[in-house]
Amino acid sequence: MTKKQLLSQYPLNWKNKGFGIKIFCSIPKIATGILITADKNLVLVDPGDGILRDLNREITPAQLLSISDIFITHGHHDHVGGVWALLTYWRVVRKLSPVNIYYPEGCVEIESIYSAFSKVYSNTISYRINLRKIGNSRKIKASGMEVKPFPVLHREYELSDDRNVNVPALGYKFYFTDMSICYGGDSARCEPLEKMVKGSDLAVLEAGFEEGEPEGMHMSVSEAAEIGKTAKNFFLVHVPQ
Ligand SMILES: [Zn+2]
Repeated sequence: MTKKQLLSQYPLNWKNKGFGIKIFCSIPKIATGILITADKNLVLVDPGDGILRDLNREITPAQLLSISDIFITHGHHDHVGGVWALLTYWRVVRKLSPVNIYYPEGCVEIESIYSAFSKVYSNTISYRINLRKIGNSRKIKASGMEVKPFPVLHREYELSDDRNVNVPALGYKFYFTDMSICYGGDSARCEPLEKMVKGSDLAVLEAGFEEGEPEGMHMSVSEAAEIGKTAKNFFLVHVPQ
């Protein structure tokens, strides 16, 4: 695949020697859903609404049961909307192996979903859920990969007025053998993102900026493409449709 800007229809696919990513969907305010493959290991990233349906089409029930790591970039509904469905599905099919959920420190959405899920189903949950709050940029070993979290710049509006505030948000760089995939989550242009994208085999970058919105929330297509060109290949996602 040559270096180019890809704004094709979902799903987007990239694969190289046992390492791959499938982006089922990434539409702002609607849903994201990403599956990373490293040999036989499957990892979910930002499982938004519809992820269970997409996984059911893509992989076997046994593969779905084998998933042990979920990475969340931030708590916006279009990135975490499928978490409740996944947790509940695994309870119904009696998953036994534990699942780790990695998320940025301060992401109350994940903690609230977990807390409500634990309360509703209390002692009928067949598997362990480990909340792995990330407060620094240390590398994590997960599902046969090394994963490097990095801070990104993302904001949201407050309801009461027109102010917008910072959201706890991370990007992740996934390393497998001698390859790497860098996913920035939702982010405005920022230094840590530019640094991590550079030289990656694949960069997945949001280009969600819409006319009239304040600075510091999203990148424009041209900003994202400019950063993307520093990687070997890149996808632009989260483009308003
Ligand atoms: Zn967001």
